[in-house]
Amino acid sequence: MSDACGTINEGSARPAIPLLGLTADEVRDLLPAGAPAYTAKQIVAFCYDGKSIGEMTSLPKTLRAVLEETFVSVPLAVEKVYASRDGSKKFLFRFSDGELAEAVFMPHDYGNTVCVSTQIGCKMACAFCASGMDGFRRNLLPSEILGQVVAINRLEGGTAKERAVTNIVLMGSGEPLDNFDNVLRFLSDVTRKEGINFSERNISLSTSGLCEGMRALADSGFKITLSVSLHGADDATRSAIMPVNRRYGVAEVMSAARYYFERTGRRVIFEYILIDSVNDSRDDAAALAALVKGFPAHINVIRYNEVAGKPMKSPSVRATEEFLARLSALGASATLRRSFGGDIEGACGQLKRRYKAEDGK
Ligand code: SAH
Repeated sequence: MSDACGTINEGSARPAIPLLGLTADEVRDLLPAGAPAYTAKQIVAFCYDGKSIGEMTSLPKTLRAVLEETFVSVPLAVEKVYASRDGSKKFLFRFSDGELAEAVFMPHDYGNTVCVSTQIGCKMACAFCASGMDGFRRNLLPSEILGQVVAINRLEGGTAKERAVTNIVLMGSGEPLDNFDNVLRFLSDVTRKEGINFSERNISLSTSGLCEGMRALADSGFKITLSVSLHGADDATRSAIMPVNRRYGVAEVMSAARYYFERTGRRVIFEYILIDSVNDSRDDAAALAALVKGFPAHINVIRYNEVAGKPMKSPSVRATEEFLARLSALGASATLRRSFGGDIEGACGQLKRRYKAEDGK
């Protein structure tokens, strides 16, 4: 597909340095001596609009040519777009070193959410998830995380000022708190006023429960929404599907979640994927309701999205309804999360696997 966002420097020996996310001061330090001060500001604005250096046509042609030798604006290219019948779209991006990762655009009546990846692959190896099936490759840079937002914003017709993308969730491939420094710099770049100016209230981060990272995020000063992938209300159930639970057990995760709430005042969301005969019994519902009792939290129940090559099954609609009814009878605040993109391999990591298998990549 054509590369609407500019960006990969074909044929160049050294990887180009991304400009996206740099402040005007940081850009000014990179410009040739004698470039006017406002040029750095213009470049920052162009980058947040998703323009390639070649498209920054109000800059002198000679300056553009010099910049293109060393830099790139948005450091990714669109490899493929899959549109779902429900209006969501899945974007497969290729980064400068050839690695692929996916992001999803989901339209709602209140705005549009983009779900971005934070790593290529994942170390967490959750038994149900496609992302970790090929292991971990590398962390994404702040500019590569931000690039997914900026590219989709532009492709959906938005600019940095009039955004098509209104909400961001860090819930794609990877464990965001395992790429902590880059994710924090991303948060600072995406919320910067002179940039795309996202409100922290419109950003959510989902973690498999890395407790030091949860506490450090609470202390970071960013007041984003924290979602915790629980998927099991006791250590035996959770450890069977999430190896990370052997490092940070359920009690520790709950204590870090409580700390997050106390420091930020933001209600924590617990995600609970319902998997047939794994964690969907009446006892599981009772254990979950008891675990969150008295905790200012909300439970998002999600029906498991089946993954080719995994034995786990999605529960029936009836079993899902019964689980939710039981939670509510026990006083827990819980809703079923609408699932997008079922027909386009919506769950994280699935699309990339299908694409690679089909195209022999
Ligand atoms: N590593 C982070 C964020 C990425 S996964 C985390 O674990 O939270 C984002 C969410 O998708 C997590 O709740 C994860 O458990 C869930 N998920 C992964 N595979 C899924 C599948 N096949 N069906 C439904 N949800 C899935």
